[in-house]
Amino acid sequence: MPKYYILLFIVVCFSCQKKISKDTTVAIQPYAGFSQVKTDSLAQLVEDFYKVSVEVLEPKEMYKSAFITTKSPRYRADSIIKFQRSDLEKYDFILGLTNKDISTTKRDKNGAVKEPKYKYQDWGIMGLAYCPGNSCIISSFRLKHKNEAKYFTRLKKVTIHEFGHNLGLPHCPDKKCVMTDAVESIKTIDNAELSLCKRCDSKWN
Ligand SMILES: [Zn+2]
Ligand SMILES: [Zn+2]
Repeated sequence: MPKYYILLFIVVCFSCQKKISKDTTVAIQPYAGFSQVKTDSLAQLVEDFYKVSVEVLEPKEMYKSAFITTKSPRYRADSIIKFQRSDLEKYDFILGLTNKDISTTKRDKNGAVKEPKYKYQDWGIMGLAYCPGNSCIISSFRLKHKNEAKYFTRLKKVTIHEFGHNLGLPHCPDKKCVMTDAVESIKTIDNAELSLCKRCDSKWN
């Protein structure tokens, strides 16, 4: 197994929660190669978990202009988030699903690329969302596990986590909460539950 277990959730938190309701529309955008069955299942999960109205879009090719090969073949998550916004006319949110590797630049408090730069300039991630925001991307690439159920549970948690950021939920100090910071380790995700702690739940319910 390659050392893909260097991971993180990135979040930039600006302010508080978004108001959502059953009338809130979320488009799920699967990219070419992502399982249709998993797409439908994750769409149902988002609908049930956040009580929003979800629509699955036709699969499309990943944006070529987001592709880079600085370290390995990857797609820039920040670019995907930006491109997805052009499909937002009809929807309040858009959530992308891909099996391609995605990355971003990890920065320090002052906005400079974190040291060592060769490591953080193009940093592989599992998902990216701004907090709050209206567009997020989830990648299954770094969530793989020989146990299919475990793999899919990871995918569910990352989906709920990233969309939670779009809704304005920041990282949570409760390690069991789905909004816990993965701090560059897949174990953090495995230890978390597929639910919000009372504190996070009360923030926006
Ligand atoms: Zn996060
Ligand atoms: Zn929490």
